[in-house]
Amino acid sequence: MNTDSKIIVAIDGYSSTGKSTMAKWLASEVGYRYIDSGAMYRAVTLYALRGGIIGKDKALDMIRLVKELPSINIDFRRDDSGQLTILNGENVEREIRMMEVSSHVSIIAAVPEVRHRLVAMQRALGDEGGIVMDGRDIGTTVFPAASLKIFVTSSPEVRADRRYKELIEKGEKVTYEDVLANVIERDRIDETRKESPLRKADDALLIDNSFMTRDEQNSWLLTRFNEALQS
Ligand code: C5P
Repeated sequence: MNTDSKIIVAIDGYSSTGKSTMAKWLASEVGYRYIDSGAMYRAVTLYALRGGIIGKDKALDMIRLVKELPSINIDFRRDDSGQLTILNGENVEREIRMMEVSSHVSIIAAVPEVRHRLVAMQRALGDEGGIVMDGRDIGTTVFPAASLKIFVTSSPEVRADRRYKELIEKGEKVTYEDVLANVIERDRIDETRKESPLRKADDALLIDNSFMTRDEQNSWLLTRFNEALQS
């Protein structure tokens, strides 16, 4: 047992299950760094939308995307409001959360070249342990040897309801039905893609938080973290 060493915590699961809320909370509770891998896929998607690499009909110019990948730099910075995602020097935190990006991100995330580049960046960020990273393939592909792997799920309706409220609060004009359709469609593409599909790692602990309070969820998570640290 070595409680001084810092472990890697991988939190994967379906969209809008509150993975990032869980991951952020745990990271701040135990003094680890939080990394939102979904923000990286969202940043590449924003780049592609702005540059017309994804057309209005969702057609993807694969040749341009792959050619321009090396010039897409993604970084994270912190300010009082939390973590900011920086795309080629610009703070895009707000823009990457918009429905326009959510509607296209799974298409971009299915491109093997995009995944290879982002997985390499994620591994470099987690090199020394002491991180909590959330995403879809963190426990299966990015850090298959992570000491603690969590897989989060909840019903599509509960997830769409949470996401809808968040977007309305941010002033976006969306309907609950559109958000529900987006949540279901993203999960379908994420689960069926060839490269690193969304799936629970065999050794991941499953949590369904449909009817859990924030406190119950946090307490469950902290207990699992302390167990992983002891083992
Ligand atoms: O976590 P978030 O919902 O922000 O992720 C946005 C999208 O990025 C997901 O729907 C998925 O398509 C993709 N993603 C991924 N692998 C990750 C993280 C996110 O494919 N590790």
